[in-house]
Amino acid sequence: MQPSMFNVRVPLDGRDDVFLMNTFSDAQLIVSRDVADVLDRIAHGERQFAADEREAIETLVDNGFIVESRAADHQALDEFFHNVREDRSQLRVTVLTTLQCNFACDYCIQGDHGDYNKHAAKMSLETAARTAEWAEQRLDAVAPSSFALTFFGGEPLLNLPVLFYLAERLAESCRIRGVRMMINIITNGLLLTPAIVDRLAPLGLNGIKVTLDGDRDTHNKMRPLRGGQGTFDKILQNVRQVAGKTRISIGGNFDEQTVDSYPALLDFLREQDFADKLAKVAFKPIIKPAQPVQAKGTFALTAVGSDGKPLGGACMTSAGTGVSSACDNCHFLDDKMSFLREETTRHGFPTMDGVHMGPCEIHKHHAHTIGPDGSLYACPGFAGEATQSTGHIDGRDERWRRESAKRFEVITAWSECDDCAFIPVCAGGCSVAAHTELGDMQKPNCHKTSFEAGVVTLARQAAARAEPALVG
Ligand code: SF4
Ligand code: SF4
Repeated sequence: MQPSMFNVRVPLDGRDDVFLMNTFSDAQLIVSRDVADVLDRIAHGERQFAADEREAIETLVDNGFIVESRAADHQALDEFFHNVREDRSQLRVTVLTTLQCNFACDYCIQGDHGDYNKHAAKMSLETAARTAEWAEQRLDAVAPSSFALTFFGGEPLLNLPVLFYLAERLAESCRIRGVRMMINIITNGLLLTPAIVDRLAPLGLNGIKVTLDGDRDTHNKMRPLRGGQGTFDKILQNVRQVAGKTRISIGGNFDEQTVDSYPALLDFLREQDFADKLAKVAFKPIIKPAQPVQAKGTFALTAVGSDGKPLGGACMTSAGTGVSSACDNCHFLDDKMSFLREETTRHGFPTMDGVHMGPCEIHKHHAHTIGPDGSLYACPGFAGEATQSTGHIDGRDERWRRESAKRFEVITAWSECDDCAFIPVCAGGCSVAAHTELGDMQKPNCHKTSFEAGVVTLARQAAARAEPALVG
């Protein structure tokens, strides 16, 4: 008998209680300090307890706070990651319809700068047809109960023929197979219209994520058009028109200069007639893209344009080097993150709790990202580097892609995390960020303080609700 290594605890301000959470079982309890002490006594080998303490121990065992041994925790963790990896309940496919973008964001090397859009890849209808065939084969092989199809870019709405083709064909493929279809779009919002939403809604539109980079002035500075014109008002107008029709999430990318404008953005959003219709509001820091780091044992083969800038890659505002992930898992600048999370909650918007973050899709066998040319990637964040492709939808057999696939197969960054309590919800952090910042995707990219701040927030919320159950 031993306290689980996945226990975290937060003493509650001004009372003699402790918030306990187990990140593996996801149990949360408010217990008296005596009960928390029982856990310490068990850890020190004590086995004699009074009747009321034995009752509390039973509750702690039932909720996973006490386990047989440390080895049992590790075995459960191995099984957990195996199940995450092999889970067939959902097939996830992210399609980059184009790498072109109609914005000219300062912090992004892609987008409407120079002749970037002239050369940036765009999926053809022919590749879309092969992508659909490939997805149908995966649907047959995996037999999931749901299929999550995410459109991403560049700006995915710049290639509507491919987007509609894939959505319509794969909705029919899912209907025939009895699979639930969920379509998601990650867009800058400039071209978002009710007509697009109306066409996709009957096919299984699940939600649309739109990016706002701060309040009106800040966003217009950060995300202008090529001529410098602001985009905030047009995006807001578009969001207003579709907010009642589908789930809209608002994302945003901040840095040291812009973070202070976010409370004003939250004030502004709160005043809007669609405020209560927003499904989620969550902001993340911009990580300025570093020079691509060459992974060990590989040659850098990233395609570059005439000006030497990379041509390939997913939108750096929403995936890639941990800027603001399409998968919602990257997390940096932990203190700012915590501040904005609390501000977002204070404004009454649903947001991420900072604890339930992963494991992300890079750890899932049945999650794929497809670039405009049909190249496969392990996650949207790696679609910015052609050398990280793990295969191709046409099944071509190339040594460099096979070797790349092998590198992703063995990502177990958490194995260097000792007995960290957050492994089940972190899995060693974002591998894209580890690759970019540390030069090794196998290393943990640790933002433990962000998880700790998230637990404190959960504790405060539980204390305010006087839930979950008070034990002891
Ligand atoms: S490694 Fe995971 S967290 Fe990082 S971008 Fe990829 S899917 Fe997202
Ligand atoms: S990366 Fe940090 S927070 Fe995540 S599991 Fe490892 S030690 Fe824990």
